[in-house]
Amino acid sequence: MPEGDTIHYAANRIRPLVVGEVPHLETPHRRFARGRWAQRLEGQAVTGVDAHGKHLFIRFDGGWVLHSHLRMTGHWGTYPADARWGRSPRRAWLVLRAREHEVVQFDGPVLELLTPGRARGDRRIAALGPDILAPELDEAGFLRRLREDDPTRPIGDALLDQRTLAGIGNLWKCEACFETAIDPWRATGEVTDEEALALVRAARPRMAQSARDGNQTRHKQIYGKAGRPCPRCGTRVRQRGQWDENRPTYWCAGCQR
Ligand SMILES: [Zn+2]
Repeated sequence: MPEGDTIHYAANRIRPLVVGEVPHLETPHRRFARGRWAQRLEGQAVTGVDAHGKHLFIRFDGGWVLHSHLRMTGHWGTYPADARWGRSPRRAWLVLRAREHEVVQFDGPVLELLTPGRARGDRRIAALGPDILAPELDEAGFLRRLREDDPTRPIGDALLDQRTLAGIGNLWKCEACFETAIDPWRATGEVTDEEALALVRAARPRMAQSARDGNQTRHKQIYGKAGRPCPRCGTRVRQRGQWDENRPTYWCAGCQR
């Protein structure tokens, strides 16, 4: 699943291709047949491409904003103009052409064009917690939001709540809990502020590196390793579903407390 680092990585690749350009825009997917996005954005230059948590925004000088969230299935690709795309053209929802390149969003599932008014006042976006990949991490804001949450909620669960902290997903949650030797099933009320900050500080540099180079795999110590010996204590790694989407949580009951 794309997490915040994947989205920042996509924004970093898209930005130099479109900022300052008036891209040629197509929305090949039939759900946009009547959206007239190309007309609405006609003649407008891209002023910025940014990410907050798992959300990506492409901003135009008329105030319009393309907003995307990839959830489990979506993907952003960037290709030289004559190159083969990484997924079938039938799965493309958005194509932007500029500087001899194509920027393609595949498989949605959240892609919308926000009016200038909506872009300023969108409540879903305003409700997001601090971005774990912001240049200056708002640690106080993260702790305040964490403490407003249900203290009986397992910490591994609470970390996935984008209203508390935006950008962290299941992979980085598992790795941060392992790194800090914190049991992801421990109640949040029994996790100290120092421990909560240690979790975020463990995930942040690894996510930042992945946002720069797109490689998440080198950091996997525990994710996906159910049944294998823990790299720290040798106990067999366990896996169980967590959160309302039942995301697989990997942890070591031997050394995570
Ligand atoms: Zn262990």
